[in-house]
Parts: sequence; C-alpha cells; structure tokens
Amino acid sequence: MQMIELKTQIDRCSKCGNCQSVCPLYGVQKRETHVARGKVFLLDRLLDGQISWTHRLSEIVSTCLLCRMCVTNCPNEVQVDRLIKAAREEACSTLGLSFWKRNAFRFLLLSAGRLNLFARLLWAYERSGIRKLARQSGLLKRLPWGLFEKESVLPHAASRAFSTQVPRVVTARTSRMLVAYFYGCMTNHTYTGTGHSTVRVLTQNGASVVLPRQLCCGLPALASGDRRTAERLARENIRLLNQTPFDYVVTDCASCGSMLKEYGGLLGDRASLAFSAKVRDVTELLAGPLGFTPGPFPFRAKITYHDPCHLKRYQGIYAQPRALLSAVPGVALIEMKQADACCGSAGSFSVTHYTLSTAVGGQKAANVTESGAEWVATGCPACRLQLERCLKAAGSGVSVLHTVDVLASTYGEVRVW
Ligand code: SF4
Ligand code: SF4
Repeated sequence: MQMIELKTQIDRCSKCGNCQSVCPLYGVQKRETHVARGKVFLLDRLLDGQISWTHRLSEIVSTCLLCRMCVTNCPNEVQVDRLIKAAREEACSTLGLSFWKRNAFRFLLLSAGRLNLFARLLWAYERSGIRKLARQSGLLKRLPWGLFEKESVLPHAASRAFSTQVPRVVTARTSRMLVAYFYGCMTNHTYTGTGHSTVRVLTQNGASVVLPRQLCCGLPALASGDRRTAERLARENIRLLNQTPFDYVVTDCASCGSMLKEYGGLLGDRASLAFSAKVRDVTELLAGPLGFTPGPFPFRAKITYHDPCHLKRYQGIYAQPRALLSAVPGVALIEMKQADACCGSAGSFSVTHYTLSTAVGGQKAANVTESGAEWVATGCPACRLQLERCLKAAGSGVSVLHTVDVLASTYGEVRVW
C-alpha cells in the first residue's frame, strides 16, 4: 500500500485532537509528534512535497505503538495504523532499515534454524551466569548503542524449543476437528509451558492438533516497514502449513493471530485469503465452534485480564477470554482500570524506545496492582513479557500467565508456567 493511496485518510482528519486523550505515548510525554494528529499533519506535508524523508521524520513515524487507541476513538475513523505502516514502508525504502533490524529480520527471522541457534545461545548466556555477572558488574552499562537497554528486554530462552518437545500430531480421544497450531516464536523459545497448555486444552475439548514446521509470522518486519521480508514469511508459512489438512489454524499469540489474519490482504491471492479465513485465536475457537469444558481441578485465585491490542482492537476478541476464565472453578475475575490500554510492548518498540515503553508499561503495572488481583492473565506472549518486566520493576507480587495456562490447570498435570 502506497502512502498516496491513503491520502483520503489524511484528508479525513479534522484536527479535533480527540486522539490526544487516548494515546499512551502522549500520556507519558506531552508531545504533539507522538499523537496521531501530529503524525497525520507531517505526513500531509510529506505528500504535498513541503518536507521530505529525514531520519528525524522516520523517528517520529517509528514512535507509535500501533495500538489503535486513536483509531477506535477517532470521530472521523482515520485509519492511523495503516497510515503509519505505509509511512514506515516508505521510510524503509528511502532511508533503509537500521543495522539491528536488518539483521534481525533478514538473517534471524527468515531461518528457523538460525533463530533456534540464537535462542540456544541466549539460554547458554543466561544459564552460565554470564548475564547476571555482566549486569552486576555494570559492564553492560558501558556498552555503546544502547546495548544495555536492548539486553534488558531480551526474553528468557527455554533450554529446548517447544517444537522439539512435542510430536507432530497430538490426537484427541474423541476428535471433532483437526487444527494446525501456529505457536509462534515466543511460545516456541520462551513460554514453552503455554505451548503445552494450548495442546492440552485443545485435545481435552475434542480438537486433534497438528504442529507444522513454521517461521516467524512476519509482524515485526511488517510493522517496521520491511514489507518484502513480511511477504516472504507469509508465503513460506502458508506453504508449510498447507502441507497438512486442517479445519482451522489456531494460535495463542494475539500478534501472530492478527498477522496470520492479514496474510490475505498482504498477498491478495486466493490461497492466502482462504488461509486467513481459517485463522482463529485459541480463545475464539474455545468460546466458539470447539467449546470448553473445564476439568475437575479449581484455580482458586483473583485474576485480572489484560487485553492485548492485537486481540481486542485488531481482532475484536475481548469477551471470549473473560468468558473462558469465568468458567474456571475457583477463579474470581476482577476488571482492572483501563484493561484494554496498551502495555507499551509493541514488539520491537520496547527495544528501540525503551524509556517510553517502560513508562507506558509502568502505568499498566500500577493498574494491575491496584486491582487487587493475584494473577494477571493475557493472550499475547509479548504483552506477558512486558507485564512481567514492568511488574517486577514496580516491586509487585502479581504473577503473569496466559489465559490457556489457567484453563489447562483445571486438567492437572500440565507444565503451565
Ligand atoms: S481524533 Fe481523528 S480526526 Fe481528530 S485529530 Fe485525531 S486523527 Fe484527526
Ligand atoms: S496507534 Fe497508539 S501510540 Fe500510535 S498514535 Fe495512535 S494511540 Fe498513539
């Protein structure tokens, strides 16, 4: 999508400023360039030829969580997220990608083997005690290019990838449907317990699960303007998943789910449109066509739920996880203040804009703690990582888990967290 095609979106902006009151970034730093109105104004000047691409303009366009808070509160329905993505694509083709992103997207994400090797090295770095030593000695703080901050948001890596811990097919005792499980990079390398939870909950409720080979969904590349890499990943994932039949593609990652549902629009051919039409978030499937019957074990706790932006505002899924959690015996579901406010993670944003991301996450951590809950459940591994980091920084005792971890615990004997 070229920015010029979005001129109609730009023209819709009446400069009312409603977006100011909901933008999480404007909330922490009152800058007009952070908010949708300021960005739309600059992109309008760009299209008019009054300004041209500079690294400063590229940085302004990068400073957005793509959370869609402004979109849902805009009286003129300006599709700010689409504008920003189109602008990032232009910036990427005009100025190029940063060294870090270029290598992360085109070297790591395009190869499951290289990503796996990176995760194992990360695990060894942590397990050997080098990470702890480097932090305690203050060595990391002396590194250039903001490497200290980048390192501090790296997730923990599992000793073995989830994909190597499970068979290719797990059959339900009474099977009513066959689903292809897209577990995504973070469940595969960090939250492997959630992968087991998802398989357990699906099979317990009558879905046999195929675990196909897969690559990164491509969202990090697309959100950074690297459309070519995102398209390559989309095509390859469709090819890999289509090697086995399935009724649905199911995922427990809100970000992956929204991206898989976008493959049709991204590639525009019949195969990708058919593929996207079969994608379901795991809570969407369980609260919908599959159904969910909890097991005999209660989960006695007060739980609050954080809505991932990619689940609520990109996929319209917010009632389903709450209904499922409420169906678990023992759970007392408590609503926190602004449950659907962005946590500030936004994928690589937490790395590239560490200070802003941490400030937004701090607000979310305060709302979680204030709710009085003992646990916070969510449906996106990236949100989970950010919540864990920010709750820890705030000294909160609230623990984080995925919605399916709560559901799986009712069947007992499952590694949930
Ligand atoms: S709320 Fe919408 S119309 Fe109003 S300033 Fe923001 S983007 Fe423009
Ligand atoms: S998408 Fe979110 S972060 Fe970006 S301008 Fe809109 S409200 Fe602000």
